[in-house]
This record gives sequence, structure tokens and C-alpha cells, in this order.
Amino acid sequence: MNTRRPMVAGNWKMYGSAAANAALVDGLRQGLAGLGAAAGAVDTLVCPPFVYLAAVAGCLADSGIALGAQNLCAETGQGAYTGEVAGEMLREVGCSHVIVGHSERRALYAESDEIIARKYAAALATGLTPILCVGETLAERDGDQTSAVVARQLDALIAHCGVAALGRGLVAYEPVWAIGTGRTATPAQAQEVHAFIRGRIAAHDAIIAGSLRVLYGGSVKAGNARELFAMPDVDGGLVGGASLKADEFVAIVAAAAV
Ligand code: PEP
Repeated sequence: MNTRRPMVAGNWKMYGSAAANAALVDGLRQGLAGLGAAAGAVDTLVCPPFVYLAAVAGCLADSGIALGAQNLCAETGQGAYTGEVAGEMLREVGCSHVIVGHSERRALYAESDEIIARKYAAALATGLTPILCVGETLAERDGDQTSAVVARQLDALIAHCGVAALGRGLVAYEPVWAIGTGRTATPAQAQEVHAFIRGRIAAHDAIIAGSLRVLYGGSVKAGNARELFAMPDVDGGLVGGASLKADEFVAIVAAAAV
């Protein structure tokens, strides 16, 4: 039995509109209220696209649901970085969290382990809680490279930021082959990598490793959340597609509260 508080985070990716977001938050509010005390046992977070953050912050007022961004600039403060958004700006519009190193950013926008480590540091420096995504591709899993890839991703972060930085964030294990594919890691597969992540960090600092929340992401839905979250090293989920449907997301939160 661990004392880590579960979290269920929704990554809305590049989906939504002003009207759809308002309706979604409305559905989340009603659904979570329907869970009663169970909802209070889980940290909930939604991560809309940048342009909707301020409006969604307004919709979320007094809901108990936290707001996060999907990305941030590796530079802090202000500057000539066209198209970028600084951590301070995310804080100003109400964000408490930010996703860093999502596999779509690694693959589609060529984000390296080094830039991801710098973004993680920028998040901490600006008062945001980063959620570091790690995970292997299908080819890497088939080539028995899962541990090596996840170790490389974690080690790069620790080398740049120090292990103490992991004590101020979360990690999400997101096997790339399970993201948006409908193909989920089995609970045993997820547990194996989550335990590996915790062990890798424990080699530096056992206390940080023991308190770090490690979320699972990859086609989590109402129908599979409970068995995934029952694993001893799985502390909740980072949810993409299913986070866009209020009833699915609420059911996933309920699964985390068990
Ligand atoms: C994600 O985008 O982080 C994710 C896990 O997506 P999905 O749940 O749709 O697989």
C-alpha cells in the first residue's frame, strides 16, 4: 500500500473549440460532483491548447480541477522567441502543471532529451509542476530496447536537472505504440516499466523514487483504467482521446479513486 495520491490528467492535444471546451468542463464538473467524496481522493488536471487556457481557467473556477499546458518554451522570461510561450505566461493564465517531452513533440517536432530537460528546468523555475513523458516505440520494444530507451530519457533529465528535480514533478510512462492506437499496455507490461522507472531513480535517491507519482498513458479508457491503476507502481493516468469525453474521463477518475 503506498501513500501516493493518484492523478488523472487529460491531454486535449490539438482538439476543441471555445464552445466544446466549455461544454466539456461543464460535463466534468457535473460528473465529478456525482462521484462525491471519491473525486476528492484524486488530483484531476486538464491540458487544453495554449489559446484556450485562459478561457478554460475561467470555466474551471472552484471546480477542484487543475489546469496544465501541453508544452512550454525552454527559455524563461520574455524574449524574441516567435511562436513560443514562457512558463511565467502559463502561470499567469492559471496553469499549475505542464506536460514536457510528450512523444508527439519528440517525434514530430524533433525535441531531444536535452531540450526536454531544459523545458523541465524552465517549468520548475517558473513555478510549474512538470509531467515528464517517457516511453519507447514499437520497434524499440520489439528490439528489447524498452529499458534502455526509458533509462536514457530519465538519465538525460537527471544529468541536466539533478535527481531532486524529479521530486518536484511527475513522470508519465507512455509507450508510443499505445498512444492513440487503441492498443493498451497490459497491466503487467505497465507495471514492469513503472517499477523500472522507480528503480532507476531509487539508485540516485530512494526517497524521491518512493514518493514520485508515475502515471500511465496510452489508450487509457473507462474500460481498462481500473486494472491498470491497480498495479502497485501505477499512480494514475495521462489520458488523451478519452479525456475529450466527460463521462469517460469521470469514469477514469472514479477508477483511480478505488
Ligand atoms: C496522450 O496523448 O498522452 C495519450 C496517452 O493519448 P491516448 O490516451 O489517446 O492514447
